[in-house]
Amino acid sequence: MKRIGILALQGAFAEHTKAIKRLGEEAFEIRQKSDLDKSIDAIIIPGGESTVIGKLLKEMDMFDTLKMLITEGLPVFGTCAGLILLAKRISNDDHSYLDAMDISVKRNAYGRQLGSFQTINYFLGIGDIPMIFIRAPYIEEVSETDGVEILAEVDGNIVAARQNNILVTAFHPELTEDLRVHRYFLDLLPKA
Ligand code: GLN
Repeated sequence: MKRIGILALQGAFAEHTKAIKRLGEEAFEIRQKSDLDKSIDAIIIPGGESTVIGKLLKEMDMFDTLKMLITEGLPVFGTCAGLILLAKRISNDDHSYLDAMDISVKRNAYGRQLGSFQTINYFLGIGDIPMIFIRAPYIEEVSETDGVEILAEVDGNIVAARQNNILVTAFHPELTEDLRVHRYFLDLLPKA
């Protein structure tokens, strides 16, 4: 059984825990620095508010350890705010956070009116899946020379991508009953 760490400082982490458990793997909620010392096979950074999660990671002295684990190759899945935290560039912000993935991201990219919406769209390697967007970012640019693979686009905007050990979605698969994106992430983990 795989042990998946779920960053549980703020945001929609409980839904990821449920999704991982429903897929028959162990979910371990990471709430403090010492939790990052425990052995985990992967980590999920949930949606929520990227500024708040980023601030808490620093205040709780978890930021550098998490960044190091990701740099060393720990598989990580970031949804929405998690995607923002993993990006190397945030076009409408003056700094980035974990600086891990070669993508440029726009926060709150859909404006106030279209802050939240649902759609069904194609995800490479899976097929059509439901996508729930909540004050979501989208990816403006990816570095294909650095091996970023685009996995889904909605209305011409990139909403899911992968680079080596990092998977990100601008939408919230954990808020639907469809477990295929979580399954996709688990399938990326090294076998046994
Ligand atoms: N708007 C949030 C941010 O900028 C992200 C929203 C979400 O995670 N659902 O962090």
